[in-house]
Amino acid sequence: MKIGFIGLGNMGAPMAANLVAAGHDVTGFDVAAPMPAGVAQAGSAAEAAKGAEVVITMLPNGDILRAVAEEILPAMDDGAVFLDCSTVDVDSARAVAEQATARGIGPLDAPVSGGTGGAVAGTLTFMVGGGEEAFTTAKPLFDIMGQKAVHCGPSGNGQAAKICNNMILGATMVATCEAFALADKLGLDRQAMFDVVSTSSGYSWTMNAYCPAPGIGPQSPADNGYAPGFAADLMLKDLRLSQQAAEAVDADTPMGHRAMELYADFVEHEDGAGKDFSAMLPRFESRRRP
Ligand code: NAD
Repeated sequence: MKIGFIGLGNMGAPMAANLVAAGHDVTGFDVAAPMPAGVAQAGSAAEAAKGAEVVITMLPNGDILRAVAEEILPAMDDGAVFLDCSTVDVDSARAVAEQATARGIGPLDAPVSGGTGGAVAGTLTFMVGGGEEAFTTAKPLFDIMGQKAVHCGPSGNGQAAKICNNMILGATMVATCEAFALADKLGLDRQAMFDVVSTSSGYSWTMNAYCPAPGIGPQSPADNGYAPGFAADLMLKDLRLSQQAAEAVDADTPMGHRAMELYADFVEHEDGAGKDFSAMLPRFESRRRP
């Protein structure tokens, strides 16, 4: 398949590399990052998009997505698929999808979970919004870049699924970390805490698979000095997107809101920037009750 790929950063580069390795013809464009081996360099986003059957974007945010869409949609072939894998606000995803549809192009919003490790290994999960036909066209590409693609409904629903999942993740990480900090102060051994909770009703992905306490449970960023992993900055981005969406549809999300405030303090006023999102544990440990 002839593929245009725009935004070859930490996630986009390995995703594009996996498409090349599977035999696809990939032309890329990025304003800063170099092209991975085997990806032809285009001079602009429009040039990367021209003549492609599928154009993939993996960009930082909704404003940049809107600007790139503005540029590439006129250059794309009729009937092509515009597959955005960035994490962006639901409104931007739906606005871009509307523009694409008006141009005769099949839009898909398909944010991912699995992080850079999943992007390199080709084991991402895609949460996909958009039409059936576009989904069917993109399915072989999802199978190369990931292990699972869930079709969540019409445009914007992929982003909706992503921010709901990550709102749960952020709130759960906070709950897991504050519980560990409390357990420490109560004199409960961390291994005992893990052994009980991971097999009791408090279990969760953050406890069982990504334990924030170093040396406990399976390998996680905690065992690597809290180097990300999944950066607290990105968790904050996703929590903000969830609260922006909640406000837009008048949904009451107090736990998501509090998790957003805590990650905002951590990243912007404490020392959390650049650390894994599980570094909330040493944060809570170092604090006293307000
Ligand atoms: P990144 O900053 O490494 O990559 C984004 C790339 O887009 C950069 O190389 C940048 O130069 C490029 N770019 C910016 N503006 C551009 C433009 N106008 N035209 C062309 N290229 C442009 O970020 P990333 O970690 O690869 O994340 C990409 C997206 O994936 C984000 O939306 C992020 O929220 C999401 N995501 C990231 C992770 C993760 O663990 N890194 C996990 C899941 C989802």
